[in-house]
Amino acid sequence: MVCCFWVLTRKDNNFPRCFCAFKSERWSHGFSLPLCVVCKTHLPMADNLTHQQRHHIMSSIHATSTKPELMLRKRLWKDGFRYRVNDRRFAGTPDVVLPKYRTAIFVHGCFWHGHKNCKNYVVPKTNTSFWIEKIARNQKRDEDVWRQLEAKGWFVIIVWECELAKKNLESTIGKVENEIRSNGEAFRHSIEERQLNRQQHSSERREQKRRHNQLLSEIKAI
Ligand SMILES: [Zn+2]
Repeated sequence: MVCCFWVLTRKDNNFPRCFCAFKSERWSHGFSLPLCVVCKTHLPMADNLTHQQRHHIMSSIHATSTKPELMLRKRLWKDGFRYRVNDRRFAGTPDVVLPKYRTAIFVHGCFWHGHKNCKNYVVPKTNTSFWIEKIARNQKRDEDVWRQLEAKGWFVIIVWECELAKKNLESTIGKVENEIRSNGEAFRHSIEERQLNRQQHSSERREQKRRHNQLLSEIKAI
């Protein structure tokens, strides 16, 4: 099947540099570039794209679940964690929300969120300043979201896509699950503390009232 993109790529004398062809060397963990909407083939990460071609790629990216994200979710579910997915009621629409543990998880693509010192974060050689600015904006948004959630008492866990590569998967999931559990404990602890404070406060109020009434009856007796 010949789609619009393949035709354009032929003209660029860059045919057929499909993304899949070099996935194994640069994106071994299966970083998901969008599929062409026409032929459902992975679009290449070519550096000589025209504005129209780049727009075509970028506009076909949706906030759908990526493969590493699905792997993480599958394992969490298997290990007994229950969660909500892409809950829009929370700032930044976290990929996974675990209300019981007061934890929100974001699975970040290394490229789009600028994973520092990561081999998967390679700024394209053309339109470099555009990409640098775009990624900086994404990072700023990530920070804002983090702050908003933390201000509401939520714990935020960031998981990078490279951390979910096959060789790192087990250790990453272990770390994430430990963090979720400790967040859950901290959350339960804070609830207990709040309840204790409330109980203390109301017993103080009762005592104050009792003394006040006693004083009043003593005055009346005089
Ligand atoms: Zn990375």
